[in-house]
Amino acid sequence: MAKYWNEEMECMEPDKMRALQSERLVKQVRHVWDNVPYYRKKMEEKGITPDDIKGIEDLHKLPFLSKADLRDAYPTGLLAKPLSECVRIHSTSGTTGKRVVAYYTQHDIDLWNDCTARAITAAGGTKDDVVQVCYGYGLFTGGAGLDGGSHTIGCLTLPMSSGNTERQIQFMEDLGSTIICCTPSYAAYIGETLKKMGKSPDDLKLKAGIFGAEPWTEEMRQEIQNSLGIKAYDIYGLTEISGPGVAFECECQEGMHINEDNFIAEIINPETGEPLPDGTKGELVFTSITKEAFPMLRYRTRDICVLTRGKCKCGRTLVKMAKPMGRSDDMLIIRGVNVFPSQIESVLLKMCNASPNYQIIVGRENNNDTFEIRVELTDDMWTDTIKSIEELEKKIAVDMHTVLGIKAKIRLVEPNSIPRSEGKAVRVIDTRKLV
Ligand code: ADP
Ligand code: ZN
Repeated sequence: MAKYWNEEMECMEPDKMRALQSERLVKQVRHVWDNVPYYRKKMEEKGITPDDIKGIEDLHKLPFLSKADLRDAYPTGLLAKPLSECVRIHSTSGTTGKRVVAYYTQHDIDLWNDCTARAITAAGGTKDDVVQVCYGYGLFTGGAGLDGGSHTIGCLTLPMSSGNTERQIQFMEDLGSTIICCTPSYAAYIGETLKKMGKSPDDLKLKAGIFGAEPWTEEMRQEIQNSLGIKAYDIYGLTEISGPGVAFECECQEGMHINEDNFIAEIINPETGEPLPDGTKGELVFTSITKEAFPMLRYRTRDICVLTRGKCKCGRTLVKMAKPMGRSDDMLIIRGVNVFPSQIESVLLKMCNASPNYQIIVGRENNNDTFEIRVELTDDMWTDTIKSIEELEKKIAVDMHTVLGIKAKIRLVEPNSIPRSEGKAVRVIDTRKLV
């Protein structure tokens, strides 16, 4: 059984990899300078030109990109290829204001497929496997990403998308699926449903699962492994950088190998932007050195994690990232959707004519995220009839759903019932303890 999909890249000597990264970085900086006025201006403001970037040791001289830049430049301001050469877009799930749209040429799609093929191979997949993709298909990168890798290897691919869990299980049984790809929370739910249907992992041929797009714990891994009778592998990615497959886990299940031939990873101090040495906790920053249509130079992911180098027992030399340990911004990931408290605030501002005191309560029940927004009424509003309060609750719920893309339970509460804090308001109570 092939252990690696792209052995040359996955097991390259570190010095050789650095040289390759340097060569690709120099070319990429030139490509961006020539084709992306938005980033060129950023470089000019820092007083640098492509001549200043002679290799990876000069990476720190480049300006950062952030989600705010992506929104500023929406929809095509960061595009580095003519639209006529692009073949696809993907977009992130719910963000403040405008969505982030990423573009791909066929070459970009091919490289992305190569990355997810590496992840599937690392999970033991070969062309003889039956891969059931139950990530959402559409603008979300999950479905398309794993689907692409599965096709690239030549696995029989079941493009199920998410939902309709009993049917998922029926297909698993009837078609003998061996590998399943979805979010960890959906995997846990499939496990519970299997049990509810009176079935056990013995009724299935599943051997591995590739789960990502949201934080999950080691306990959850154990639970999923037991309930589905599989080995569960983590996979990491983000739309801005391509999608799932930026990093993937090997059989050691100790951190994810970053596909360094395509993405240079750095850890920085989120406060100062200063690069930190390997082994130090900080914000993960990526530079995509092979992407043509939407190349990101020093993109700040806001994910907090640690990088470790050294040859892994699996034989790969690719640097490893730990599971993300949180975020340096206030973004929450609820049921796989990115939610910013500022989005919630903007809806409340509109509905209540003033910025009310509110609290976001996120929890977990039966492996599903619970999501409640408590909104404190003013004295004036509190004297309204119960009926009008209920109507307001409903109206807020509908607006929230439209803006966030997921449903929240809205609870209007008495004036002064949400505790005041001395310093920064405690807006978010997240009891999920996911990392
Ligand atoms: P996607 O479409 O892959 O969900 P988004 O751009 O919407 O991409 O979200 C990316 C974010 O999802 C990452 O920055 C990270 O916070 C989170 N994420 C993705 N994969 C994982 C993972 N395996 N573990 C923890 N968090 C993850
Ligand atoms: Zn490894």
